[in-house]
Amino acid sequence: MRFVNTMALLLVAGSTFAQDPDEPVENYDHWNSLAQTLGLACLAVGLLIALGYYIKLSTTKGSKEKYDFINKHEISSLWIAVIVLIGAGCFFANSTITHLTPVLIGVRIFVTAAMGLIVSVIVQNLLKFYYPFYIEKRLKLLRYMPRISPKTGKPMKLLSEEEEDAYLDEGMQAEENVFSVDYDVWKDEETGYIQIEKYAGHLHALQCPECNYQTFKVVKEEIVKQPTATEEGEITKHYLCGYCGYKAKKTVILKQQTKLEQSTATA
Ligand SMILES: [Zn+2]
Repeated sequence: MRFVNTMALLLVAGSTFAQDPDEPVENYDHWNSLAQTLGLACLAVGLLIALGYYIKLSTTKGSKEKYDFINKHEISSLWIAVIVLIGAGCFFANSTITHLTPVLIGVRIFVTAAMGLIVSVIVQNLLKFYYPFYIEKRLKLLRYMPRISPKTGKPMKLLSEEEEDAYLDEGMQAEENVFSVDYDVWKDEETGYIQIEKYAGHLHALQCPECNYQTFKVVKEEIVKQPTATEEGEITKHYLCGYCGYKAKKTVILKQQTKLEQSTATA
């Protein structure tokens, strides 16, 4: 608020300077048209970045491919587009100049930079903390949308955690156990066709138990105790909330080494 007051004061100061009758009259048409051109160019580039993202997304085939694409690119693409659009706004705001003094130039630069900064901080917060809820809803739909079997053209069945183990190799099972990785196994019950999809937990934020934002991620995984032939091991997963900073630890038991070796031998 204090910031806004300061800017209002500066604007008032600016307009008093503008009324000074001793200043020579100058023409700023050249600058104004340049600023308008640059503004339009930024506007076009910003819209193209956003549009390009949505075109790429809509032409991406497959729910899992769409899921990965959104997870990886949506927020960063929109953020870049917004930055360029804010740049456009800054040029437009300075494209109707009729009077300038060295002081006014300073005031304009300061006010433009401050306004641009405020808007970008607001948008950045929206993208970081509110937008993920919207993304999460769409990702959930994509992840659990029935996959179509390429063999029969019919929807396949998503296997449960217990059922899927039969189709995951030892490496995959160990990964599911140890790291924040989830494998989804889809089965075409008619032909036995299997489709396996991998979801990485460290790329994917959960809902924070403290602030309820979708900003809770695995930041570190450490093996506390290596599993031996006779004893189970232990792994600790560290979670951190990107919004409120809430931290949590979760300890997961690792299977005994012999079990893994035995099944590897039979596999
Ligand atoms: Zn939180």
